[in-house]
Amino acid sequence: MNTEAEIREIFSHMRGLLTSYQEVGMDPPPVSSDTLGVSRRPEPKPVRRPAAPRVEEMKDKAVVPDRAALIEALRDRIGDCRRCKLSKGRTHLVFGEGSPEARLVFVGEGPGQDEDRVGRPFVGESGKLLTRIIENGMGLTRKDVYICNVVKCHPPKNRDPETDEIETCIPFLKEQLAIIGPEVICCLGRVAGQALLGTDFKISAERGKWRSYQGIPLMPTFHPAYLLRNPSAKRLVWEDIKKIMTRLGLEVKPHG
Ligand code: SF4
Repeated sequence: MNTEAEIREIFSHMRGLLTSYQEVGMDPPPVSSDTLGVSRRPEPKPVRRPAAPRVEEMKDKAVVPDRAALIEALRDRIGDCRRCKLSKGRTHLVFGEGSPEARLVFVGEGPGQDEDRVGRPFVGESGKLLTRIIENGMGLTRKDVYICNVVKCHPPKNRDPETDEIETCIPFLKEQLAIIGPEVICCLGRVAGQALLGTDFKISAERGKWRSYQGIPLMPTFHPAYLLRNPSAKRLVWEDIKKIMTRLGLEVKPHG
């Protein structure tokens, strides 16, 4: 992306985030060069945010972001989105689900047919596999994490989302990530990796290696749909998931 396009994208992203804060009557946090994403170092140190407070622990609501309200405001703003051509064939817009306080966000490429039918992410066969990874492998529940996609509407015939569709939709994903502020992002597959890390990203060469998105540690791994076609790759994904668990301080069982 050239500099002008990059600056345009940053301002569009910040405008969206500002609108979300205004919609829930909160003051936005101070803007720094890091917030804008202009201080891009090759491997920035991960930013560990303090554990999300429980509502009853919020002594000063003015300074604690109400992530649930911000996420809801973003969903309201997306509305019955017709911003790109994927809107024509969808049944439901699949925004994403899980905890707005999640320490871990999974990002896939886009809703499949099952997801389109019910309006929830990762509920088909791939979703069942992801759920097993989260529950049986990590010892968490889907409600502990956040699950979303690069594009929010089902691409026809399960084709990859096209560049114009990704460019139109990705500001929503970026706002989700900015609001939630997870400690780790797990990118599922090539499309999600390229959307957040750049088009040079190659899943087979780069899965299992820590990367960084806006200062947040990012672990790319294979998409569950790929695992359904290539079960032998499950072993590699488990290696990647163990790295995430270690980073989050979760207990890794020897034969998980
Ligand atoms: S894919 Fe995204 S930009 Fe396109 S219509 Fe759906 S929500 Fe809107």
